[in-house]
Amino acid sequence: MSNIFLRNSKGTTSEHVKWIKLEVPTSSRTQLIDITNLVAAELSKTGVKNGTCSVYMPHTTAGLTINENADPDVARDILAGLAHLVPVTGDYRHAEGNSDAHIKASLMGCSLRVPVIDGRLALGTWQALYFCEFDGPRHRHVLIGITGE
Ligand code: ZN
Repeated sequence: MSNIFLRNSKGTTSEHVKWIKLEVPTSSRTQLIDITNLVAAELSKTGVKNGTCSVYMPHTTAGLTINENADPDVARDILAGLAHLVPVTGDYRHAEGNSDAHIKASLMGCSLRVPVIDGRLALGTWQALYFCEFDGPRHRHVLIGITGE
């Protein structure tokens, strides 16, 4: 991926972000995939000790969220709750037949930002980064951008 140069208030280049593209293959129609270790591995390669880690997901029927990974039932229950909130069939017009996936994608959002402190993702004890598949299985990917020093 190309580097993107950000400019500070003086208009000079202050830092650059190298966006890293990571493949995230999915195996079910709906699925939460813990990508914390993937992201942490890319962070450690950069050597950044203090800064910000951004994760962006360029799809319209998937999402990103942060939630508990200690009990796998939490991820299961998030999917069950979303399925209850947004049924597969309903008063939808989108001809592809995957409107539920588009709605769930918007509920979850497409980006995350996590502080980097002492070279580590500053997540809470129970927090994990999840890729949320809502219309799989598909070949998905995320972009990871790390800034700092
Ligand atoms: Zn669609």
